[in-house]
Amino acid sequence: MRVCVTGGAGYIGSVVTEYLVAAGHEVVIVDNLSTGHSGAVTDNVEFHKGDLLDRSFIESVLSGSIDAVCHFAAFSQVGESVADPLKYYENNVSGAISLLHAMKTAGVTDFLFSSTAAVYGEPEETLIEETSALEPVNAYGNTKLAIERMLQDCSKAWGLRPLSLRYFNAAGATKLHGEDHRPETHLIPLVLDAALGRRGELVIFGDDYSTPDGTCIRDYIHVKDLATAHVLGLEQLSDGITGALNLGNGQGFSVLQVIEAAERVMGIEVPRRIGERRPGDPAVLVASSGNAERLLGWKREYPEIEPIIKDAFGWRKEHPDGYTA
Ligand code: UDP
Repeated sequence: MRVCVTGGAGYIGSVVTEYLVAAGHEVVIVDNLSTGHSGAVTDNVEFHKGDLLDRSFIESVLSGSIDAVCHFAAFSQVGESVADPLKYYENNVSGAISLLHAMKTAGVTDFLFSSTAAVYGEPEETLIEETSALEPVNAYGNTKLAIERMLQDCSKAWGLRPLSLRYFNAAGATKLHGEDHRPETHLIPLVLDAALGRRGELVIFGDDYSTPDGTCIRDYIHVKDLATAHVLGLEQLSDGITGALNLGNGQGFSVLQVIEAAERVMGIEVPRRIGERRPGDPAVLVASSGNAERLLGWKREYPEIEPIIKDAFGWRKEHPDGYTA
């Protein structure tokens, strides 16, 4: 298959590209490099630097016989989305509208969408099903849900074949591609950097939650397992798989468990202190991913937290300053 990957210079998009190429697919990357890195673009892959809001740009890329689109390009910082919602609606929602227009014009119907657990907001239940209430609590989650709904409408209207994959906490790395957000807000890279003395101590956002050790529990899924699900999803869109699927690890780890696992992996202590709760953090978020397993035939290789952290640490040691380009 010849697949257009938008956001292929970003964290998850670069790993999915690596896996698609390994599975024998031809990839065409589109990225404006606003948050991605040219150093993350997989070698020998066709790369078009440009913005999805530029309709003629994306139309010209899609006119080159594309079979499917994997859409990652989006802003993804929750705090920033709350402070500047229009930036998020414009880039994420308008970007998706422009991309879908271009797909319709080019007659491309197979679409894999990078969605998020943020569409569920702060759910009552701790094991989240795809049928759980969709009530985002921030603009980022709202933009992703708006796009999911737009995809369903396009599916009914002109035969788009969309599959939305709702990620829980993506983590880990391959040898080639890792996590390099600027600013970094995610727990595992911050834990590694604190241990390596590259930033101050880690602040644990609250230890008075109703969890066994008082810190929040999250579902950390290896980015390699996410990539496998994308390859399977893409290859099965033509079999009528559609809608939305959770991609998580099926079990949760607390902030303290992550820190302790990182200490075991690195053999270095993680300097930390307990801080205030972060607004909007539910105590426990764990996905039920049974539908993805059953429908896609997806099997996770990394259910434990230590191998995930080991891979993240391996990449960080090789790239102490992240991508240099
Ligand atoms: N967290 C923390 N300190 C940090 C960053 C994150 O205690 O410096 C906690 C956060 O409150 C949450 C978990 O780590 O319970 C995972 O946070 P992250 O931002 O990585 O992902 P999220 O679950 O918000 O998508």
